[in-house]
Amino acid sequence: MYTPEIRLDGEHLELVRLRAIVESCGEGLVVIQNDQFVFANDRATELLQTTRAEMMAQGYLVRVHPQDRDWIEDRRHQRLAGQAVPSRYEVRTLLESGDVRWLDIGVTMIPWGGAPATLTFFSDITERKQAHAELQRASSEREAILHNALVGIVMSVDRHNQWVNDKFSQMVGYGREELIGMPSAMLHPDRAVWEQLGREQRTALVATSTSSSVRQLKRRNGELFWVQMEGQCVRKNDPDAGVIWTFLDITERLKAENDTRVALEQQKELNNLRSRFVAMTSHEFRTPLSTILSSAELLKYYDERLPQAEKSKILKTIEDGVQRMKRMLDRVLLLGKVEAHMLEFRPRAVNLQQICQDLVEDTRAQHPLSICEITTNFTDPAIEGVFDEKLLHHILGNLLSNALKYSPQGGAVHFRVVCSGEHTLFEVSDQGIGIPHDEIQHLFESFHRASNVGDIPGTGLGLAIVKNAVDLHGGSISVSSVPGRGSTFTVRL
Ligand code: ATP
Ligand code: MG
Repeated sequence: MYTPEIRLDGEHLELVRLRAIVESCGEGLVVIQNDQFVFANDRATELLQTTRAEMMAQGYLVRVHPQDRDWIEDRRHQRLAGQAVPSRYEVRTLLESGDVRWLDIGVTMIPWGGAPATLTFFSDITERKQAHAELQRASSEREAILHNALVGIVMSVDRHNQWVNDKFSQMVGYGREELIGMPSAMLHPDRAVWEQLGREQRTALVATSTSSSVRQLKRRNGELFWVQMEGQCVRKNDPDAGVIWTFLDITERLKAENDTRVALEQQKELNNLRSRFVAMTSHEFRTPLSTILSSAELLKYYDERLPQAEKSKILKTIEDGVQRMKRMLDRVLLLGKVEAHMLEFRPRAVNLQQICQDLVEDTRAQHPLSICEITTNFTDPAIEGVFDEKLLHHILGNLLSNALKYSPQGGAVHFRVVCSGEHTLFEVSDQGIGIPHDEIQHLFESFHRASNVGDIPGTGLGLAIVKNAVDLHGGSISVSSVPGRGSTFTVRL
């Protein structure tokens, strides 16, 4: 077969090569001059779904979407006038089929046939635009869900907030913009604790990609609140790539748990109190009652035969028994009044020395059989102070009476009053049976008696009344004791 040999000179060869590049570059390529297309490659006609002839016949604006025509035209005029305009942009084209396509356009000025023209490359980016819009819609939907979550959510990198949801911003009282970039230390009450927490969380995140802790956070106004915080690495076992944290405010839950615990403890204490009360009454009331009963029986059966002196003695025993029970009942009633906050606090100027001296006399009279020796030491011979006299009687009367009662072998009872500036210190010490160390903390609870009291009678209410009277004065009381050696009670008012 004969194939004619076509020879091309250098210039033609160059043109053929250029044409081949232009047609095979994959992008639409047009040249526009005087608002008309003067050149279009095959890809351009394909993308615009038209023919070259049609394109050449109509102005270039026909190919631009009606809503984009104004600005495209403006921009073209500016470019031709030599003004700086962007050379890359996105524009819509309206195809004859009615389809709208997005084009990514690059424009540059070139001379064409000796006059200025624009060379425009373009490609169809409709799919990319749609994918982008879809992505944006999906991510704004996701963001809306995250914002409406009932837990605070934070994405953090290197312990700095990168993203926070509305709930978290409400929790801590800072705006979302303020929180972005903020180090999490700002939201923790203590720097050292925050650093320690960071180390613990990092260890857990590296090992398991998750971390869980219960923490106190600080709101903008300084208020502290409890959160359950759960962390999850964005990339497995790599906290440096970012961690998603969720925060659940558990302040109310902890408060409710605490209230329940307090209520349970109160219930327990009430049960203990009831047992102590039953133990005390069955012991302390039974003794005088059986004395009264046996005395009454003696009188009933031997009345005629008993000499008068013996009868008087028996009647005195009955009287003493009744008095003892009455005293106990008075104490129970007084404590009831104290605990119902019915005890009044009426401070006024009193002569302390006189009161203390009277109290010592009363105590001696109450314990006529005691072989203790009471010594007093009042630093100021005429101490004046502002106290509630009735409460002072309860406080010092009980302490002095205990000192004698719990010193059955006698010994020195020392009563000291020292006025120092704003406070007055009252100290009662004895050399009696003392108190076992681990029982001291319970002595101020009602009906509580130490295990070493033996037969010494008592209701276990005196110190409870003392404590309340001291509290009403805004004072304090302390005890030191060595079993078998003695005790010292110190009151500061
Ligand atoms: P009462 O109600 O009659 O005073 P009580 O003396 O037993 O009875 P509190 O005065 O409250 O009750 O004292 C409580 C307990 O503290 C006593 O039972 C005793 O065990 C212990 N106690 C108090 N004072 C002394 C003291 N000076 N020495 C040793 N034990 C003491
Ligand atoms: Mg007592």
